[in-house]
Amino acid sequence: MKIREMVKTFKPYKVIEGNYRIWLDKNENPFDLPDEIKDEIFEKLRKTPFNRYPHITSMPLREKIAEFYGLSPRNVAVGNGSDELLDYLIKIFEGDYIITTPPTFGMYYFYAKLEGIPIVEVPLNEQFLINGEEIAKKAKKASIIFITSPNNPTGNSQPREEILKVLDSGAPVVIDEAYAEFSKENCVDLLDEYNNLLILRTFSKAFGLAGIRLGYLLADTEIIDALYRIKPPFGVNSLSMIAAMVMLDHYNVIEERVKYIVRERERLYKKFKEYAYPSDANFLLMRLNAYEFLLERGIVVRKLEGRLQGHIRVTVGRKEENEELIKALEEFLDVANI
Ligand code: PMP
Repeated sequence: MKIREMVKTFKPYKVIEGNYRIWLDKNENPFDLPDEIKDEIFEKLRKTPFNRYPHITSMPLREKIAEFYGLSPRNVAVGNGSDELLDYLIKIFEGDYIITTPPTFGMYYFYAKLEGIPIVEVPLNEQFLINGEEIAKKAKKASIIFITSPNNPTGNSQPREEILKVLDSGAPVVIDEAYAEFSKENCVDLLDEYNNLLILRTFSKAFGLAGIRLGYLLADTEIIDALYRIKPPFGVNSLSMIAAMVMLDHYNVIEERVKYIVRERERLYKKFKEYAYPSDANFLLMRLNAYEFLLERGIVVRKLEGRLQGHIRVTVGRKEENEELIKALEEFLDVANI
């Protein structure tokens, strides 16, 4: 037996274990579903035959998402988290390399490395904004370009005029909108105009369904068709599919929670304005080296590295959790004498 050397270059996942009180490290929604919605899901599950495979290309859920956006189901793909869809997106287009815009989400690197596809980086500027012209210059030989808006871990949205410059290159452009529900901006309306635009979304954040692992892609029928040629059959299970479909019927609940989270985000931002960056997502980037300090007080946040060394990314939690965070950070600033 011999494990490939390439596989050994991937680090094992770091599992944070411990009896911590407050988890603000994974950009999750702090609210579980209301009991009535859970009951509705359980009712539907009761009537679902578990001995049968789900739909081979997840059509019932694709239809429901399509209806939500006023698109055709042939414009929608669903996956086991949007992470899984990234894997297939990296595989379906011709080109010499992918383009990413660091500091950004790590999974684009993960799948490109796994596939042995080179990565060309066009870094974000000092304000964490993309340079559309620079990206467009390199787009010709790119198989696919990833832009995250709002960006993780910086929280800001990318300006539409810069995104348009990239789209005008004609190369396939993924706008990863995992956090778009928390922002005033998104690119869904551009789908009509640009057949090279791919919008990636997830049920993990605003929808509060991180545990069911469901993500979706909105794109041209040719792209969705290509994706379903290489995607394993029965890829999304019946249980997750039903939960997501029920949740789409209760979008008003999501909207209420998004409002709450945005309110709390702005409250946190105002408190730590000197150290926090403005955010359009459900988290804040802070220029505070407070990871260990917070951990000692039972609060888990994300510690950042590289260009963002000395920064933390803090998910917006419930009001009482945020209060604890505020108290701990104020204490940190006192102790650090900043
Ligand atoms: N894109 C971005 C920018 C993210 O931050 C995340 C989750 N952290 C994902 C995609 C993946 O989300 P999921 O697989 O839960 O749909």
